[in-house]
Amino acid sequence: MIKISHLNKIYKSKKRKQCHALKDINLTLPDSGLVFVLGKSGSGKSTLLNLIGGLDNVTSGSIEVDGNDLAKFRENDFCNYRNTHIGFIFQDYHLIDELTVYENIVLSLNLRRLEDKDDVKNALARVDLAGYEDRYPSELSGGEQQRVAIARAIVKKPRIILADEPTGNLDTNTAKAIVELLKELSKECLILIVSHNVNDANSYADRIIELKKGEIISDVTRNPDFADKVTLKDGNLVYPQGLTLCESDIDFINENTNKKFILKTDKFLPTNEPIKEAKKVKIENKSLSLGKKLKLSGRFLKNKTFAIALSSFMVAVIMVIMALAQTIIAFDAGKIIANEMDKMDTSSVYMLKMINSEKKAMLGDKAQDYFVEISDDDIQRFYDNGYTEKIYNIYNFFMPINGSGGSISAGWNTSFFTDTLYPRNILGVVEIDEEFLTDKFGEINYLAKVEEFHPGGIIITDYVADALFLYNVAYRGKSYEDLLGYYQWGTLHSPRGYINAVIKTDYKEKYGELFEGLDFAERVSLSEYMKDERFVSLINEVYSSYGLAYTFEKDFEESFENNYPCAICWHSKLYFDNKEFISTSNTQLRRDDWIDKELKANEVMMSYVKYNEIFGTNYKAGTINEFEPHTVRVRHYRYDDIENKSKLLEMDIVIAGLTTHDGSGSTVTMIASDEIYDAFVKDSTFVTGLYFNGNQNIDTVIDTANELGLTQYNSVAEGIYTMAQAVDVFIPIFELVAIFLCIGVIFILMNFASKMIKDKMHEIGIMKALGAKNSSVGVVFGLQVVLIALLTCILATVGYYYFIGLANDILVESLMRFNPQKMVLDLDFLTFKPLIAVENCILIFILALASLLLPMIKIKAIKPVKIIKAKE
Ligand code: ADP
Ligand code: MG
Repeated sequence: MIKISHLNKIYKSKKRKQCHALKDINLTLPDSGLVFVLGKSGSGKSTLLNLIGGLDNVTSGSIEVDGNDLAKFRENDFCNYRNTHIGFIFQDYHLIDELTVYENIVLSLNLRRLEDKDDVKNALARVDLAGYEDRYPSELSGGEQQRVAIARAIVKKPRIILADEPTGNLDTNTAKAIVELLKELSKECLILIVSHNVNDANSYADRIIELKKGEIISDVTRNPDFADKVTLKDGNLVYPQGLTLCESDIDFINENTNKKFILKTDKFLPTNEPIKEAKKVKIENKSLSLGKKLKLSGRFLKNKTFAIALSSFMVAVIMVIMALAQTIIAFDAGKIIANEMDKMDTSSVYMLKMINSEKKAMLGDKAQDYFVEISDDDIQRFYDNGYTEKIYNIYNFFMPINGSGGSISAGWNTSFFTDTLYPRNILGVVEIDEEFLTDKFGEINYLAKVEEFHPGGIIITDYVADALFLYNVAYRGKSYEDLLGYYQWGTLHSPRGYINAVIKTDYKEKYGELFEGLDFAERVSLSEYMKDERFVSLINEVYSSYGLAYTFEKDFEESFENNYPCAICWHSKLYFDNKEFISTSNTQLRRDDWIDKELKANEVMMSYVKYNEIFGTNYKAGTINEFEPHTVRVRHYRYDDIENKSKLLEMDIVIAGLTTHDGSGSTVTMIASDEIYDAFVKDSTFVTGLYFNGNQNIDTVIDTANELGLTQYNSVAEGIYTMAQAVDVFIPIFELVAIFLCIGVIFILMNFASKMIKDKMHEIGIMKALGAKNSSVGVVFGLQVVLIALLTCILATVGYYYFIGLANDILVESLMRFNPQKMVLDLDFLTFKPLIAVENCILIFILALASLLLPMIKIKAIKPVKIIKAKE
């Protein structure tokens, strides 16, 4: 039962003045019967129905339906109420075009989590449409569509059916059939029908309510209990004032009184509103199951294939770019180097400690690549970080062995890669064990070897030996045997080292062709060689094995110092009084046995050129006799000790005289007494590099080296590092781009969802009128965006997989500019990273959900009242 009291509905509008559509309506409606609502257009009929149907909020007053006050309902209560109790029949039928007859009808049930094929069948049978289940609305006539709409309304057996001009669009005969059908149905529920057809009302109504300008101007009912109130007087029918009779009433009277009356009077009685106890009927809270939501979502995809494909494609393109950007951002030089080493069969790497860039900045122009000492703590750090293999020490990096090759100006020191395939220097001495060599070269194959290894001596490779043959005048045309023993290293004035053995490598077998026709006098254009992969590979092997010297001595440093003192103050700074003196790498001392004069314990002789450099004097070869001996305070520091905290040495020395021994810039600086000489020697050799044989833990090695500020000395690595720095510059840009791309994705998806909602506004309105909640409708349409997200995931992952190679090629090619040596490197900077693919898929879904926010608000804003509005 519906009890309406003091109901007011005022439409407020900013543009127009407000409209008082219903004014203080008081009305009680029974549980069944066919009630016609009549009135001119604009009199408030639809408003009344909509309010009863819970499609709109009352302004004031109350509508109590089975004990539930609609005025107190919130949005979801309205949905549940419509869902449970109300069947709507609209002038425009409002079937969902995408759904079949069956699906349209069963939707009513699905919204209540019900589905009974027989119920649908019965409903169709009642509207005389048995067998029409699989048709689409477009395949039906107007009358048939309206009957389907009726079936949809009745299938859930609602308490109230609201029909707003249901026959407005139908021809007379069809309209009559529909009204008759409603009349039939009204035995079981209350049907409120808005109609303009007064004849229909008179013929079928149990009650007629007439509205005018929002007020009830008449409310009459057919009352079957009137007979006893009617009497005959002088052949006329007498009945109480206000009583109205219709044709069938007259028939009824005639039958019961055996009189013949004809109808002259009004047909209906004014309503005596029956007062009954209102029993509260519970409103169930149900909504579409996920399966049904999915199914509906799928049905709404019709004709959307292109839009979905396009959106998915666009998003996928963006996501591929994103994945590529992320791959670049995730760029890990260490991993790439390890990978490259694997590919190039380079199983070892070494790390050198040089003055790092920070200290270089402090030293300014004076800084060169001075090597500094690697401490035991540094070494321990590798093990602490998880390196498990043996670490070998490297000494005397760039140790010159080539002697007075003289005419060869360019060697390893400046750049190996300028004009020679052979080294001028040894790339350091590695303190090894037998295992190391067998691992590198297989069986140790000595090409030449001294009887007994000299302490502090080194083993050189055939590659280094061949370099000596080729570039050192002294050795030209000699044999490997001839190389054994003392050799002159550095310049003529330098001390000598000792070669214990020459071992065979596979360099000739592997790279022999490269050296063919190479002549001493010939300068090779290495830029041409750089393009040759064999050459790049050779360089790698030179750096990791061919170009090194080896020693089996456990403490090479100690033994070398003791046996071949070579007081070269490499890697260090000297102060004379407070004058800082930094030479190039060769600030050299000689013992006084090199000159005729015997020096006292605290005396040195100094090259006049160096003396001038330090003290700003202007001695010449001819004026050195005028020199006055004097004492200076000498302090000696390592280059890594920029703050001069830990002195290696501090002593007073007497500069006893100047010498003309000078020649080139890298010659003897001082001739010292044994005491001073020995004091300096102590610090001339130390571990400058670490050799990691095998690349099992290469990641750890590279990471730890980065931690410690060690430099990797490997041509590939060097190139990659430089290139990596170039990549670093772009990372913030990529991050920014990534943000924009995300916004782009949201925009595309939002655009799709918005368009979809705009397109399906009508369907959404209908679904909501039927009682679907915003959340359900949201899911139905949101799922489409999720579908796009899903498609995108597949497309983007495949695209990422496919394009990463291409992107790598482009990146590597463009980064080659930053590769100092411009050598060909078959690099895999960017590789498919499954984690990034997965992350991106997750990201797509997050973006998809984010992009649904606005569309969901739109869905919420769609008012079914506006959609289902009857045309007047
Ligand atoms: P009927 O169905 O009897 O033709 P309605 O109930 O649709 O009349 O409308 C009653 C009055 O309320 C009319 O004056 C109409 O212009 C006004 N009205 C209806 N709906 C709205 C609305 N959404 N906003 C403002 N005014 C409205
Ligand atoms: Mg209307």
